[in-house]
Amino acid sequence: MRFENRNVLVLGGNSGIGLASVKGFAEEGANVHFTGRNQETIDEAMQTVPGAQGHRVDITDRAAMADLLDNLGKDGRTLDILFINAGIGGFAPLREITEEQWDAIHNVNLKSCVFAIQQALPLLGTGSAIVITGSIGAHSALPGNAMYAAAKNGLHAAMKVMAGELVSEGIRVNMVSPGPIDTPLLYRNPGVTGAQVDALRDKMIESVPMKRMGQAEEVARAVLFLASDEASFITAANLCVDGGALELR
Ligand code: NDP
Repeated sequence: MRFENRNVLVLGGNSGIGLASVKGFAEEGANVHFTGRNQETIDEAMQTVPGAQGHRVDITDRAAMADLLDNLGKDGRTLDILFINAGIGGFAPLREITEEQWDAIHNVNLKSCVFAIQQALPLLGTGSAIVITGSIGAHSALPGNAMYAAAKNGLHAAMKVMAGELVSEGIRVNMVSPGPIDTPLLYRNPGVTGAQVDALRDKMIESVPMKRMGQAEEVARAVLFLASDEASFITAANLCVDGGALELR
């Protein structure tokens, strides 16, 4: 029960890695709030994880984020843990990238993650922990992945700078970078057909020294570790959960 009575907010908690983390935090005693865009999966998540409170808030909507944080901060309540996990995929070869796709991916995966942290700062203080989901894709040259890789690489750079700025306030900031994980994300790439997804999946498995995809729970365990007091001397770290894909290739 590492998170007994801790207040946790997971942005992007109704699916995949976020949902597995919501479950993990709740099972260890936390008061968990989470966001997502899809009301149906938010409701399902609240049924699966009794006590967890879901909110339909798009991370790119600064006003909605402000309302959520105002509510969570009522009566002097604070946040112990902020998990910034919202993200979207998007494959396109260089010749096909559009500005619209580029902006959409950078808005969700980079800009809004940083602004969400900025907006949450009044609720954070000494002992608080921020965990951010990156990607090993930020550090590799997978064809068609320029938009996603650039956004997540920017997020990695921002994570380190934010960790440096917040260290004197007693706030730790760390990143978990998953390799290929079996979640709905892979199947939600706009413009990518079922056959292309299967081919991509096979290619990803081939690139992992452990020769399998990871499970959302395996990433959630790393998130919980970095958010916990067990990681009290860790900040600005990037923990890869990837079956050796980044370092052993
Ligand atoms: P999912 O698609 O299952 O989860 C993505 C989550 O982000 C959902 O909860 C989704 O909510 C939320 N989200 C997306 N856009 C927004 C938005 N604009 N506002 C609020 N919430 C939003 O995929 P994963 O669990 O795999 O992805 C989680 C994170 O892990 C992402 O940041 C992803 O980039 C990263 N990652 C995943 C890898 C993988 O192989 N699966 C590999 C490396 C990194 P909703 O469903 O309501 O849209």
